[in-house]
Amino acid sequence: MKIKKGDNVVVISGKDRGKKGKVLTALPRERKLAVEGVNMRKKHVRAKRAGQKGQIVQMPGVFSVSAVMLVCAKCGKGVRAGYKVQGGKKIRICKKCGAGI
Ligand SMILES: [Zn+2]
Repeated sequence: MKIKKGDNVVVISGKDRGKKGKVLTALPRERKLAVEGVNMRKKHVRAKRAGQKGQIVQMPGVFSVSAVMLVCAKCGKGVRAGYKVQGGKKIRICKKCGAGI
């Protein structure tokens, strides 16, 4: 999986198409991730102690990594990512402009 936690991505399919956000959780084994403000789910939280109220909180749900693309800061949009070895280190690059992401 080319996308990691903290990356900026853009959603390319589904109801949140076009939304940009930061990756909050990455699950490489399941090829899924959660992105800030995308695929918001309502979660009902029970009161844990007496006197406390149960509430509904919104949180981003995980979805397939194939629904997003990495955003290249130079191109300013979603791009495909590739890898390049530079100075003995493997770096991730934008396939369009060649800049490191
Ligand atoms: Zn680029």
